[in-house]
Amino acid sequence: MHVQTMIRAGHVMPMTEDRAVLSNQAILINDGRIVAILDPAQCADVTADVVYELPDHIVLPGFVNAHTHAPMNLLRGLGADLPLMQWLQTKIWPAEGKLMSPAFCHDGALLAGEEMINSGVTCASDHYFFSADVARGLTEAGMKCSVSAIIIGFPSAMAADDEAYIRCAHELFEEFADSRNVRVTVGPHAPYTVSDIMLTAARDLSEKYGARIHMHVDETQTEIEDSLKQYGMRPVERLHKLGLLNDRFISVHTVHPDDKEIELLAQAGASIVHCPCSNLKLASGFSPVSRMMQAGINLAIGTDGVASNDKLDMLGETRLAAMLGKAVANDTTVMKVADLLYAATMGGAKALGWDDRIGSIEAGKDADIIAVDLGAADSIPVSDPASQLLYSAGREDITHVWVDGQLVVKKQQSTELRNLSREKLQNLAKTWQNRI
Ligand SMILES: [Zn+2]
Repeated sequence: MHVQTMIRAGHVMPMTEDRAVLSNQAILINDGRIVAILDPAQCADVTADVVYELPDHIVLPGFVNAHTHAPMNLLRGLGADLPLMQWLQTKIWPAEGKLMSPAFCHDGALLAGEEMINSGVTCASDHYFFSADVARGLTEAGMKCSVSAIIIGFPSAMAADDEAYIRCAHELFEEFADSRNVRVTVGPHAPYTVSDIMLTAARDLSEKYGARIHMHVDETQTEIEDSLKQYGMRPVERLHKLGLLNDRFISVHTVHPDDKEIELLAQAGASIVHCPCSNLKLASGFSPVSRMMQAGINLAIGTDGVASNDKLDMLGETRLAAMLGKAVANDTTVMKVADLLYAATMGGAKALGWDDRIGSIEAGKDADIIAVDLGAADSIPVSDPASQLLYSAGREDITHVWVDGQLVVKKQQSTELRNLSREKLQNLAKTWQNRI
């Protein structure tokens, strides 16, 4: 057999349901799609136009950043250490008020896309204004994306009133109806910024276009208290009552759900997107993620926007999610490595309803693949590749990124540092590892 591309890797984590970690595999790619994953004995007679030999790497599907506000990359660094409302009122909203435009959203998304693709993110789900321009920025950076038809109860540079938001939503869905690499979600901002009437309209848009609903929910304790005061019920109960909860619903943050809300989300088949950096930096609280996973809710990971993170580093975000989740549950056995890496890839793909094409390395799927170097001093010796990918490696170790089979990122791996060669360090690590 002859293929266009063959990636031979020391370790492969395809993110299949069995959470397998395979050794010494070859991934074969033709016309942007994965053809097969074979062990060396099976591919003796396979030839390829290009062969990548990556014996020290772990190869996995590209990360799916399930929640971000890409244009906010242009607001990086504003207002650290301020209380949440002061941060929004004195820094973020005035800056957005001044800058908001299609060009701002395009340029910010381009920067965010560049940061994300270099961090191994091959698909992002964005939530912002002027989403057609966001989509153009992200795709110019080489990635796939899902962008939101935002609905919010305030006038903006994009839309003056409810009617205009709905009109913009229809236009966005129509513009990308036939796009292969851009999808559209309905993006009601949050329960506290969207009226019952507009939430119902969001539900109708989701039904008309078969689209996901992507929404911040239960982010702060204040949001819950205000909902109880204004509507006599908690936010998730209100969304349930209005008919928004189903398997197309993506609940972002979900820091403060009670048992009933967890049950409602689980029964609906909804997904949650956990954004631990943002929750910590904004002092939003500690999400009961492991309880939601135990209830059967699909978990995805998101970075949120740079204004509250301040980086779009999915590997780092997932590492924090694992550690924080263990501490919150007071249980080291929850938030397992394989489940967290699955959440950062396939979990995101499932949340977006895109798991037929992305999220795992399986025959027939898009070749959206990353390779992470586990041979450098920060990861050796390697005894558990998946665990060390999550806990030892960093985004700087992501050396190769392919989207649709095209190599879009290629970084040099460090070979020499102060005369200590990579080989010498590896031999040293191996010598001691063999004595364990
Ligand atoms: Zn957000």
